[in-house]
Amino acid sequence: MSSRPVRCRSCGSTECRLIVDLGDQPLANNLLRTVDLDRPEPCFPLRLLLCTDCWLLQLAHTVPPVELFSEYVYYSSFSETMLAHAKSAVEEYRTRFQLNGESFVVEIASNDGYLLQYVRAYGIPYLGVEPAANIAEAARGKGIETETAFFSEAFARKLAASRGRADLILANNVFAHVPDINGFVRGLEILLAPHGRVVLEFPYALDCVRNCEFDTIYHEHVFYFLLTPLLPLFERHNLTVYDVKKLDIHGGSLRIFVGRPGHVEPTPACAELQNDEQRLGADSLGFYLGFSERIRELRAELLHLLNALQDDGKRLAAYGASAKGSTLLNYMQIGPSVIPYIVDRSPHKQNMFSPGMHIPIRAPECLLEDQPDYTLLLTWNFADEILEQQTEYRRRGGKFIIPIPCIEIV
Ligand SMILES: [Zn+2]
Repeated sequence: MSSRPVRCRSCGSTECRLIVDLGDQPLANNLLRTVDLDRPEPCFPLRLLLCTDCWLLQLAHTVPPVELFSEYVYYSSFSETMLAHAKSAVEEYRTRFQLNGESFVVEIASNDGYLLQYVRAYGIPYLGVEPAANIAEAARGKGIETETAFFSEAFARKLAASRGRADLILANNVFAHVPDINGFVRGLEILLAPHGRVVLEFPYALDCVRNCEFDTIYHEHVFYFLLTPLLPLFERHNLTVYDVKKLDIHGGSLRIFVGRPGHVEPTPACAELQNDEQRLGADSLGFYLGFSERIRELRAELLHLLNALQDDGKRLAAYGASAKGSTLLNYMQIGPSVIPYIVDRSPHKQNMFSPGMHIPIRAPECLLEDQPDYTLLLTWNFADEILEQQTEYRRRGGKFIIPIPCIEIV
């Protein structure tokens, strides 16, 4: 584990301020088997810093990738929504950037090739870059040309020399995971052809701060991006963010378009989003201190509610053994004495235990067999879908506690 940085990972400023301290936490996706329960479980500080020079939210401590990704579980099937999203994105880029058999497309963190399969179908030359060896192998097995590598400045230099520079570089849901953010952006600049474009997608952190979604903070996410801190970051590497688009996937994401100055014309969408953020105070300390305060209030309220229900003889459970849930349970120190089990639809998770709190994970049918009085909804971002699936549990009197953005019993 690296020591706490004194400098902002992007601009190098020493004006970093601790905004949220969620304590020492285990890795949020590291579910345990019964045999693991007696072994020591590695925990790492989970603290969010704000750079008050460039307003970038970032974790104070990073976990070495080997800890994070060595046990990376590969689920081969992407949801229909994800595939449709990838297909329409490729169609849009092909027209917008006039890609053809002479172009070169590189995707960073290309996974099993779920997106590149559409690039290949158009006969556009491409390469996938995927750090997890087993996933890269699965992509190659499907005929998607993929190199096993972490994207870095050195890798970009090597690729540009061997294959030429890229007309389009795509990176979905990886940008927030890479601690060396300047190295990553420098790599993009090195690999990009003069007229080329970079398109990045990542979770948009504005709602996280505004709606107290503190449970989206976990070790895999080093950065929590708004547009404001990204503009100077790309400028520093002679690149320009010239267009943005908000997306509904993953509970709110941002897609940004990047090119070289002189080759791209900033769109009004970029200035509008920047103005929206400024109006809300994203470039002022107060905005973030409010976030920190609401998290502490939420913890007090939720613990008070759960204790009161227990004192009243009510029986509790939780729904959704997600990374989000791990952050919330560990921060609030809610263990099996309060929540005896968590139900989850994924068979990969059933019969395992939640990280840190060691709460057993069961199948959702348990809710009907056991009929707890209240179920804490840890995957509150899928509330509509889950409430719909649990009509029978609710018809029999079962209630859900939705913890975020504010506690609601339904
Ligand atoms: Zn900074």
